[in-house]
Order: sequence, then C-alpha cells, then structure tokens
Amino acid sequence: MNMPNGNAKSMDVVIVGGGLVGSLEALYLVKRGHRVRLYEYREDIRNTPQIRGRSINLALSVRGRRALKDVGLEEHIVKDHGIPMYARKIHRLDGSTYEIPYDARTNQSIFSVGRNYLNSALLKESDKYKNVEKYFNHKLVEANLKRGSLQFLKTDTKETIEVQADLIIGADGAFSAVRRAMMKEPLFDYSQTYIEHGYLELCIPSDQNGSFQMPANYLHIWPRGNFMMIALPNQDCSWTVTLFMPFSYFKNLDSEERLMEFFQQYFPDSIPLIGKKKLIEDFFAGSPSPLVSVKCRPYNISEKALIIGDAAHAVVPFYGQGMNAGFEDCTILDRMFQKYDDDVAKVLEEYSRTRWVDTFAISDLAVYNYIEMRDLVTRPSYRLRKALDDFIFWLLPVTWVPLYNSVTFSTMPYSQCVKNREWQNKVLLSTFLAIGGMFTIATVYGLRK
Ligand SMILES: Cc1cc2nc3c(=O)[nH]c(=O)nc-3n(C[C@H](O)[C@H](O)[C@H](O)COP(=O)(O)OP(=O)(O)OC[C@H]3O[C@@H](n4cnc5c(N)ncnc54)[C@H](O)[C@@H]3O)c2cc1C
Repeated sequence: MNMPNGNAKSMDVVIVGGGLVGSLEALYLVKRGHRVRLYEYREDIRNTPQIRGRSINLALSVRGRRALKDVGLEEHIVKDHGIPMYARKIHRLDGSTYEIPYDARTNQSIFSVGRNYLNSALLKESDKYKNVEKYFNHKLVEANLKRGSLQFLKTDTKETIEVQADLIIGADGAFSAVRRAMMKEPLFDYSQTYIEHGYLELCIPSDQNGSFQMPANYLHIWPRGNFMMIALPNQDCSWTVTLFMPFSYFKNLDSEERLMEFFQQYFPDSIPLIGKKKLIEDFFAGSPSPLVSVKCRPYNISEKALIIGDAAHAVVPFYGQGMNAGFEDCTILDRMFQKYDDDVAKVLEEYSRTRWVDTFAISDLAVYNYIEMRDLVTRPSYRLRKALDDFIFWLLPVTWVPLYNSVTFSTMPYSQCVKNREWQNKVLLSTFLAIGGMFTIATVYGLRK
C-alpha cells in the first residue's frame, strides 16, 4: 500500500456502490487521506442474509489478494476464511473423477471466499477510519458528472437528496447508473453482449456430521459439452453449485420429471449429494440469471468522474476474474495516485487511456474459458497441451508461463498474458513443423538409400 505524500491535496470523493469494488476503493482512498462518502442502494450487507441471484462464493486469486494485502486484509481473508482449491476435479458421466491441477509446478491454489463475508470485511475495515461515511438504502437516480453533483433516493423514506463531490467514482456494477450518465457524453464507446447461456445456483449441503460430501480443496466441474455445472466449497462445508446452460435448456425443464430425467442423464452423481427433494425445491425456487459482458471507454470524465469494477468492465464469470480485475483497478489507481502525487486529473487521464487494453483482454479470455471448462477439458488434445505447457514451464519457469498461470497466479497485464500465449502457440507450431520436416527428410533420405 502506497502512503500519501506530504503535499497531497485531500479530495471529497463520493463512491456510488458499496459492493466488493466500491468498498475496497473506499479503503484505498481513506488510507491516502481523502474524505470518502460511500452510497449504496441496498441495506448494509452486514445486517442482511445472502441475496439469491448473486454468486454466493467467488474464486480469489493473486490480483485480488494483492489488493487485499494493500489494505491489510489478505491474511484474514485467505488464511481464516478462504478455502484453497488446488485443481479442477472433473466429474465424468459415470461418476468417476480426475484432477487437473491449476499449477503442477508449485502447487499454487485459488481460494473460495464468501461474497457477503468479503464485502462485510471490507466495510468493517473502513469503520476504523474517521474520514469515511457510509450511506445505505441510497439509490443514485440522477447525475451531472461534469458538475460533480448527484441525486440519491433514500429507499426507506423516499426522500431525495443532492450530493456534491470533487470526484465521483462509479462502482455500481454491471448496470451502472454512473456509466449511463457517462454515455450521454460524446466519444463514449459502449457495447454490451449477453451470452445465450444463463446460470442458476443450487446447493450441496454438508453431511450429517457437518462435513463436506466431496473432497474440499477442488473446484468441481461436470463438463457436458454445451453446458456445465460447477461447485465451489463454502465455510460451512456446503457447496455452491452453479448450473450454466442455454436459456432454452432451462425452459425445457418445466416439470419435476423433466428435471430429474435431465439430472439422471447428465449429472447422476450429484443427485444423492444435493438430495432429490432439495434439487427440485431449489431449482424451481429461482430462475436462471443472465450473463453480460460490457466493454466501454473512456472510463473517466475529465478529473470529475470515473467508473471501476463491473461498472467499467463486466465480464462473464468463467475465468474467475471479474472481482479480481475490479480489485486490480483499485490497486492500479493507487499506484497512479502515488506516482502523480494525488493529481487526480493526471491519474484519471492515464488510467483511462491505458486500463481498457487489459480489461478488454480479460473479457475475451473469459468468453474463451467457458468453452475450455465445459468442453475442451475433456479432450485429449487439451490435456496434451496442458501437459506440454506444464513441462516447459517446469524447464523454463520465467520464460514459459502458461496462460492460466499468468492470468491467475501473476499480475502480468491481461493483454500481455494473451500476447504470451500467442507467442507460445507460434513457438510450438514452428517446433512441430521443424520436427515434422526433419522427420520427413530423414525418411525420404532413408528410403532413397
Ligand atoms: C455467477 C458469477 C460468478 C462469479 N464468480 C467470480 C469469481 O469466482 N471470481 C471473480 O473474481 N469474480 C467472479 N464474478 C464476478 C464478480 O461477481 C464481479 O466482478 C464483482 O461482484 C464486481 O464487483 P463490483 O463491486 O464492481 O459490482 P457489484 O458487486 O455488482 O456491486 C455493485 C454495487 O452497486 C450497488 N448499486 C447498483 N446500482 C446502484 C445505484 N443506482 N445507486 C447506488 N448503488 C447502486 C449495488 O447494490 C451493488 O452493491 C462472478 C460473477 C457471477 C455472476
């Protein structure tokens, strides 16, 4: 964590959205000596039960951990709360399983953490600072970003209030109201893409002894080609199970019989774990949620407003990087505040000019990884390439970092991870062509002799 310089000017910052990224950014800024007011639409998450429809747990990896370390929370979250997952455990149709380690060389893991727990820990940490105020049940309804003015509706009293700030930071998620205000400005590029697949969360409860029903330190995957189911462990020894598949498939499962038939056919080993009654109840209690990717730029309006996290770059969840990338936004901003001695105009200009290259890259990688998780992992060609990557990584740990490792276990810019992979593909192709060429020449030579 960089500390504020002596001559830094303290700003009045309003953060819209007290989710994961907004709560973290508030901490970074108060630690630098700025005054922060955080406005959140929902009730204080610390007083409310888990909301259905948001992922209950998330995979935390190195980029997110770096940010938590900066604000003094890494050890607590990772050691006291996180559950390490060292490998994917693949469930075949017949119920047998095999493992694909995330990092065969040094056995690093990603960590399953509870969304509510992490969000609460971030909010609680900021309670320690006098220069932060938090307002829950406040919905942003109107914004004039150039003037630095915002209008919030107090959802409990229905009163509207006006707020002024030196800097407005929109961390209000994939359907950001701050971003909507930015879209009215000229030269703002924006695109959003829904994939045809949705997700629905189910649960494998703990067993009668309160223990895990499956081996805990894995991310379990049931890859089924065009769709898949995954499970991440929870602190209470239950599993959050997420079924990802086309909306049309969900629509077909419109009766208990059809649902059970489908599970018998594709996920038979999960039925006794979830329990038939619970499976039916949970499945029909919710409806599948959509998955959206958002790409936009620039992320700022002069020195007055900025968007971060999902508000700036919502990605599909298949690389487990949405939150990690949002946390990385906050780290990068902090480094720039330090570099420019808290000159916000310079920080926002450089951040906005440079950051999009990496967020666009992780957005594309996340879409690709869905195909890898639901389909490619079952193919011999995938496993051969993975084995080859792991072997060369073992031989050349600095030069040859496989794509998944660079994204998950390093802070290499996402765009560089992609370039690296492209370079590796070229090297492997040239090597195979050269070996093939030599083999052909040797064969022809041998035959002629
Ligand atoms: C199924 C699923 C699984 C995922 N798994 C992972 C994973 O394993 N690893 C990972 O890194 N990421 C994962 N993600 C992505 C991750 O959830 C997001 O990237 C992360 O939550 C983004 O945080 P955020 O704070 O930017 O946005 P959000 O978490 O959406 O928070 C935005 C906040 O703003 C508030 N808000 C919205 N509108 C207003 C308004 N008008 N006024 C005031 N407040 C407002 C909301 O109430 C909310 O609290 C997953 C996502 C999904 C859907």
